[in-house]
Amino acid sequence: MGLQDRNEKLFYRVIMSNVERFMPIIYTPTVGLACQLYGHIFRRPRGLFITIHDRGHIAAILKNWPEINVRVVCVTDGERILGLGDLGCHGMGIPVGKLALYTACGGVPPQQCLPVTLDVGTDNEALLKDPLYIGLRHKRVRGQAYDDLLDEFMNAVSDRYGMDCLIQFEDFANINAFRMLNKYRNKFCTFNDDIQGTAAVAVAGLLAALRITKTKMCDHTIVFQGAGEAAMGIAELVTMAMEKEGLPKEEGLKKIWMVDSKGLIVKVIHTHTVFFCNFVYICCCFVCFWKDVVRELKPTVIIGVAAVSRAFTEQIIRDMASFNERPIIFALSNPTSKAECTAEQCYTLTEGRAIFASGSPFDPVTLPDGRTFYPGQGNNSYIFPGVGLGVIACGLQNITEEVFLTAAEVTHCDELLPPVMPSRTPI
Ligand code: NAD
Repeated sequence: MGLQDRNEKLFYRVIMSNVERFMPIIYTPTVGLACQLYGHIFRRPRGLFITIHDRGHIAAILKNWPEINVRVVCVTDGERILGLGDLGCHGMGIPVGKLALYTACGGVPPQQCLPVTLDVGTDNEALLKDPLYIGLRHKRVRGQAYDDLLDEFMNAVSDRYGMDCLIQFEDFANINAFRMLNKYRNKFCTFNDDIQGTAAVAVAGLLAALRITKTKMCDHTIVFQGAGEAAMGIAELVTMAMEKEGLPKEEGLKKIWMVDSKGLIVKVIHTHTVFFCNFVYICCCFVCFWKDVVRELKPTVIIGVAAVSRAFTEQIIRDMASFNERPIIFALSNPTSKAECTAEQCYTLTEGRAIFASGSPFDPVTLPDGRTFYPGQGNNSYIFPGVGLGVIACGLQNITEEVFLTAAEVTHCDELLPPVMPSRTPI
């Protein structure tokens, strides 16, 4: 970040010289550590902090930002930073890191990218007691005051930078993420990367796996560990992909199961959002544990998005290998410390038969028989810079789910894209 402050051009030249090598430094897993230590390693401010006490003045604050042609705003309130929980204002590392990838991978000029943190307090007691915490020292403000802040922010950004200025939501807790997406998606140029970007990259991974297994999406039974933003988003897009293959949505939903912290989700009593209305969500019915669910349902795909470290145990991975020739195992939780299993565990326990992807990168694995496997990274960073560039270039104001399905379809297609993200010269 020192280089980014001193010589921005050189910073991007270095990153773009080898995106794959530098991404783990500006993004997951290092960005997670940077957020955890943010107050202690803070040297110079980057991005715009807007607090709950700035209500009524957000337009004036935005006018103080020196750039007049901002095309992408990435905003967080720091409540669910990766799988690390509430890091309050220290979550600023996330929009800064994400927007660096907009430039490095999408070619969007850095001055057109604005990282924003909405500081509404934090419920993280350790941070509240830390003398070097840089944010507001009170509990999170919720309810009407919070919603008013968000409304004012969305309107102020669109007034200043236009209705086609893209506003990307990042690392909000799911109590707010789904609500805000529903509230704003038809009114502003916005998307939620944790829900929609993740969905696109996971479906891209599944589509790539289908080519290996020579199957169709609707041949698969998918079990999620986690039923939050990432899981709901992926499930929604998977059912869309199944619908495209001719399977009605109600039938597609029967192939998708979710386990959350209370057990297997079995019955619809409450809908998360309008467009996720088919998804089951019940917290009061404890059915069985994760390992039993896998044994009982014999899925072809398991996807970990609950930030429960090492949840894919040896037994689960062996079970997956016992009822699938090519088990598809995606350990998508971030950062690396939260991954459901390592690449090494997955390839070793399945004798190299697993089709594996992880949210944070893992090194290649060589098995005792000499075969080397190169784990795929299933991270929304492979989607959002491209979607963002497309949205900006086309002047799109309403970002539909079809955009993400199309992104997934072209991303998995190596006739169209080289396997490593291309280095591009900023426009
Ligand atoms: P979320 O808070 O919306 O959802 C978390 C879910 O996990 C909830 O449904 C919760 O009930 C469930 N859960 C918690 N403890 C559990 C347990 N012991 N057993 C089963 N389920 C449990 O969070 P999210 O946005 O869905 O993110 C979850 C994880 O996925 C995070 O680690 C995040 O970094 C990762 N993620 C990865 C990507 C990617 O691109 N690879 C994108 C988004 C999120």
